Amino acid sequence: MIPYSRQSIAEADIDAVVEALRSDFLTTGPRVAQFEERVARYCHAPYAVAVNSGTSALHLACLALGLGAGDRLWTIPNTFVASANCALMCGAEVGFVDIEPGSGNIDVDDLERRLASAARDGRLPKVLVAVHFAGSPCDLQRIAKLCTLHNVRIIEDASHALGAWLVDEPIGAGLHSDITVFSFHPVKSITAAEGGLATTRSEELFQKMQMLRTHGVTRDEDLFTRSDGPWYYEQHELGFNYRMSDLHAALGSSQMSRLDDFVAARAERASKYDAAFADLPITTLERLPQARSAHHLYVLLIDQPSCGLDRAQMFKQLRAAGIGVNVHYIPVHTQPYYQQRGFAKEDFPASVRYYDQALSIPIYPDLSDEDQQFVIDQVEGALS
Ligand SMILES: *Cc1c(COP(=O)(O)O)cnc(C)c1O
Repeated sequence: MIPYSRQSIAEADIDAVVEALRSDFLTTGPRVAQFEERVARYCHAPYAVAVNSGTSALHLACLALGLGAGDRLWTIPNTFVASANCALMCGAEVGFVDIEPGSGNIDVDDLERRLASAARDGRLPKVLVAVHFAGSPCDLQRIAKLCTLHNVRIIEDASHALGAWLVDEPIGAGLHSDITVFSFHPVKSITAAEGGLATTRSEELFQKMQMLRTHGVTRDEDLFTRSDGPWYYEQHELGFNYRMSDLHAALGSSQMSRLDDFVAARAERASKYDAAFADLPITTLERLPQARSAHHLYVLLIDQPSCGLDRAQMFKQLRAAGIGVNVHYIPVHTQPYYQQRGFAKEDFPASVRYYDQALSIPIYPDLSDEDQQFVIDQVEGALS
C-alpha cells in the first residue's frame, strides 16, 4: 500500500536517537532545549516549548491564554478533533466558523459575520484556533485584524504547516497570533515519533506554558513564596506531565536538518500532480498567492456530476489498487460527540459539502516518481 503520508528516516536520525539513549538523560536533558532552540530559530520566534504531542501543545496554549469555564473557543470543522477538543479540556465551549470550499481553510467573510453577530449578543469567543489546513497558510493578516477589533486571541494550529511561509515570515513567527502550535506525528512535516511544540513572542505566555508542561511546578527562586531549603520547588498551578523526552527531541532535532528538503520534495510532488490534473474534471485546492505551503496534504475534490463517479467510489477504486488514500476531514461538528452537544450538520454547509468530495492522495518526501505516476494513472483511469 502506498500511504497518503509517511515519515522519512535517515541513518543520521537513527544515530541521533542511539546517541541520546547512550547519554545520561533519557528525558529533560539537553536535547529538548536544543530542539526548542532549533525550531524557534527556524520559525523566527523568540520562545518555544516542546511537549509530548500537538494536542498537549494546544491544551497548554489554551490554558496559558486563560481559557476556562464560561469562555468560548472557535475553530473550523475541517480539522482534526484536537483543534476543538482543547477548549473542552479547559471547560470552555466550542463554536465553529465555516470554510472556503476552494481551500479548505477558514472563510474569513464567515468569521467577520459571526464575530459581528456574537459581539451583538455578548457571546464573543476568547480564542480562535486558526488552522493552516493541508499546510497552506490561512489569511492570518485579515483574521488578525478582525480578531484585534473584537479582542479575540489567536492560536495558530500549524500541525500541518511547519516549513510553510506567509508573506516574508515562516509560520511560527507569530506576528499575527499569540501562540503557534506544531505536531511531530509521523505524517507531519518532520517527526519526533510523537511530539508537539508551541512558539510565542510573549515571555509571559512562554513561562506559563513551561510551568504547565511540568505539573505547574516552578524551580525559579524568584517566584517562590517561601523556601524550605536547596531541595525546594513550588506548585503554583494545576499542570500536567506533557514533557517531551530526550529521545524524541533527538529525533526531532535531527529531522530539522532536512525540513527544507522535505518541504521542497513535497512541493515538487505537488507541482507534478497540479500539472497532471490540470485538464481533468477534478478540482485541486487553491493556495494563497502570498504564501508558501508545506504541502502536508494533496486533496482532490471529486464532484460526482462532472467526474462520473463520487468520492466514495473513487476512494474504493484507489484503495483496491493499493493506494492508501484518506479523507481529511470528517467535519468535527458532525462527530457524534459534538452532535450530542447540540450541533446540527447543516450549521456549516461548506464544510459538509467539502467533506463529501475530499480525497487525500499520497504526498511525502520519499514518494518515488514511479509510485506517484502510478497514483496519477489510477486517478485518470478511474475518471475515464
Ligand atoms: C496532527 C494534528 C493535531 C494533533 O497533533 P498530535 O501530535 O497528533 O497530538 C492537531 N491538529 C491538527 C490539525 C493535526 O493535523
